[in-house]
Amino acid sequence: MTDAILVINAGSSSLKFAIYPDAVGPPVAILRGKIAGIGSAPVFTVKNGAGRALPQDDFPQLEKSIGLNDLVPILLDWIKAHSEGITITAAGHRVVHGGPHRDGPARVTQALLADLEALVPLAPMHQPHNLAAIRCVAATAPDLAQVACFDTSFHRTQNRLGQIFALPRKLTDEGILRYGFHGLSYEYIASILPQYLGHMATGRVIVAHLGNGASMCAMKNLRSVATSMGFTALDGLMMGRRCGTLDPGVVLFLMQHKGLTAQEIETLLYEQSGLFGVSGVSNDMVVLEASDDACAKEAIELFCYRAARELAALATDMGGVDAIVFTAGIGENSARVRRMICERLEWLGVDLDLAANELGASRIASEASSVDILVIATNEEAVIASATRSLTQKL
Ligand code: ADP
Repeated sequence: MTDAILVINAGSSSLKFAIYPDAVGPPVAILRGKIAGIGSAPVFTVKNGAGRALPQDDFPQLEKSIGLNDLVPILLDWIKAHSEGITITAAGHRVVHGGPHRDGPARVTQALLADLEALVPLAPMHQPHNLAAIRCVAATAPDLAQVACFDTSFHRTQNRLGQIFALPRKLTDEGILRYGFHGLSYEYIASILPQYLGHMATGRVIVAHLGNGASMCAMKNLRSVATSMGFTALDGLMMGRRCGTLDPGVVLFLMQHKGLTAQEIETLLYEQSGLFGVSGVSNDMVVLEASDDACAKEAIELFCYRAARELAALATDMGGVDAIVFTAGIGENSARVRRMICERLEWLGVDLDLAANELGASRIASEASSVDILVIATNEEAVIASATRSLTQKL
């Protein structure tokens, strides 16, 4: 029997899972899967560790309206039936918000869950689903050790100026701070960066996590110095459906003059803005890149313009930049977006090798570039598996 760790990343409409051996060394998944379309038309897919799709015909037919609470037991049963020779010894979860003090993962207890519940208003689109998955696993497998890994933890190394807003001190003291997110992705990149950059990995690095959610992190000595996301995961870069940085006066105007409720504004800023809102076509970069629509083109241009501005601002935090890393769905796959961002940064000494970029090479800076440019696939699940293993190891 091989001991293994189940990794769960539960979102509003999807649940991603992976199984990793509970063994020493860099975590390599045995199985990865996803239930997409939760709440509308759930679809289950699963791949083996090598990325080959596995048959899933024996996964039970799912009702369209099935929720997370009913899905988790079905999933755990399926995993049990399909993991011959494997015993799941612990579950690790992605949890978006850990609050101002948690600088690393934590074992799940009732007290921890109560603390994390109090943070729901700070991450209303993600935290409730993350916590629901933990509760479902606890209800289905009460003896399984569980670990929560936070997207905010990596940024707790930032100095005070990086974390506070120019608001009355009282509000800062109450925890209205720039928390930052995508920390598990940045932690993975930090862990693997020395393999690409050697001792230069401890230099001034900006990681651009460009997915549906998008943010950037300035890292020095492989630690977070500054980041683009703020109090919530709404701040910073333009995203798939989120607006990113916005004049707060717009929110006041929407309330006072257009009569929108808080709920309506939340939906507008989290669901109807970003690439989706500007293009009026899609939140999906693949669709936008294939489109001839002028608004789709403008959405891509705005995405890149805003990304370049943010990157330059983060470079200021470190007095320059030695390397840029592109990661996540768009960062890893869109040569066009990488090129359009880099073109705006030529004044910083950034010079792309256009051919290497088009080919999707991992090093894409030209010989003349004074800034290294890398493309590295992120792996948040591997970070969660490692953390879960170290927090649940039997002594
Ligand atoms: P999430 O934040 O949901 O984890 P991902 O990191 O999976 O998001 O990124 C999703 C985004 O990546 C989508 O906009 C998708 O269109 C984009 N993407 C994926 N593959 C490509 C590609 N080949 N070219 C351009 N964009 C891509």
